[in-house]
Amino acid sequence: MAIKNAYLLDLLERTKKRNPGEPEFIQAVTEVFTSLEPVVEKRQDLVDAGVLERIVEPERQIMFRVPWVDDNGKMHVNRGFRVQFNSAIGPYKGGIRLHPSVYLGIIKFLGFEQVFKNSLTTLPMGGAKGGSDFDPKGKSDNEIMNFCQSFMNEMYRHIGADCDVPAGDIGTGAREVGYMFGQYKRLRNEWVGVFTGKGLQYGGSLARKEATGFGLCYFTKEMLQANDMSFEGKTVLVSGSGNVAIYACQKATEFGAKVVAMSDSNGYIYDKNGIDLDAVKQIKEVERKRIKEYLNYHPEAEYHEGCSGIWTIPCDIALPCATQNEINGESAKILAKNGCKVVSEGANMPSTPEAIDEYFNNGIIYGPAKAANAGGVATSGLEMSQNSLRLSWSFEEVDEKLKGIMKSIFKACDEASKEYGMEGNYMAGANIAGFIKVAEAMKAQGNV
Ligand code: NDP
Repeated sequence: MAIKNAYLLDLLERTKKRNPGEPEFIQAVTEVFTSLEPVVEKRQDLVDAGVLERIVEPERQIMFRVPWVDDNGKMHVNRGFRVQFNSAIGPYKGGIRLHPSVYLGIIKFLGFEQVFKNSLTTLPMGGAKGGSDFDPKGKSDNEIMNFCQSFMNEMYRHIGADCDVPAGDIGTGAREVGYMFGQYKRLRNEWVGVFTGKGLQYGGSLARKEATGFGLCYFTKEMLQANDMSFEGKTVLVSGSGNVAIYACQKATEFGAKVVAMSDSNGYIYDKNGIDLDAVKQIKEVERKRIKEYLNYHPEAEYHEGCSGIWTIPCDIALPCATQNEINGESAKILAKNGCKVVSEGANMPSTPEAIDEYFNNGIIYGPAKAANAGGVATSGLEMSQNSLRLSWSFEEVDEKLKGIMKSIFKACDEASKEYGMEGNYMAGANIAGFIKVAEAMKAQGNV
């Protein structure tokens, strides 16, 4: 991936200078700019309107102190973030990540990606992301609640059902969303759909939990079909064992594939007979334990320490569903050598630029995150609609809408890749289709 256009190169340099020490954010901007070269050449009006200069600068960045007290009465201080990136096409929307690796650059890369992803969903949602360097692992329920309430004591000022609607992400599941939503309601004294991923008893949407993983497989199915392939009989690797990974594994299996490996941040399991997802759900969703425990259910399976080893297992389709930059150039080379034909991304930016180059050099069909994992936020959009209507749709209704949305996302990527002379490059297609809609809206709204 190399940018040749002088205007884009200059803007990238300026963006680097303005955002030092944030490699993940620069990586995300570089990838988008690489795809936008033909757009910049064709749409001088968007360049003249300063859309690109504005799109790489968040509308608002909020950083705050999050003090909380543990079960032994000891005070801890974490840092909280909310980056409201772009509201051109709708209220800010994007999840909250709780992980020790979180800093401003991670939240900015995620917020930037979210702008294009939300645009692709066809729903009216702007882009944002938030989070904290708090580590939920090993904390009691009480400590999690203390943290979430303290986080919301600041966040509530900046969000609202028509302004900014957060959701889950790594480390933020139904439990954390519940605590944050409860505190918001208490502080504002109003019940509104200010969060998505809520529990079903209090305004959550059926199929939201499954949506990112299912949506990933719906998108991948479309992409496979367009290339005369299917999931049927294929060997699949799914990294991670969190929300996205579990439901990607379930849907891929329903589509006739055999998922043979999953992982967490300590290591991976390989079960040549196909992953027993009930066991994984029990370990991860109920007991909140490590993936290694899988051997207690299936002693014949293998466990290996370290995360990247999962990509050395021969497969037809790889679905990275853990975290950013989990597949590097080396791992991508091994995947290709072992016959992998498709990589479709459940996690955000799981492939390094070197890995993406390997996919293209080796003819691997590549489904980029901002399109392939957009089913989660799309269903969050459907949750917002249900909250506004004060209605709950059935699982089947939401799932049908999700299927339709993933189909249209693939179509948009495919058509944009053809229109701009890069047929089959769905990364370029996703970046271009996502960008054009936001850029037109920004231009129409003037210098804001
Ligand atoms: P979860 O917290 O539910 O699960 C994350 C999984 O990834 C866990 O198995 C975790 O292992 C593993 N993981 C986290 N960090 C690392 C690491 N550094 N190395 C290896 N494995 C790691 O998160 P989600 O499933 O919600 O999110 C996964 C990815 O999908 C993220 O990139 C997220 O941004 C993206 N995404 C999520 C959406 C959603 O709806 N939830 C929507 C769109 C994208 P461990 O338990 O050991 O930490």
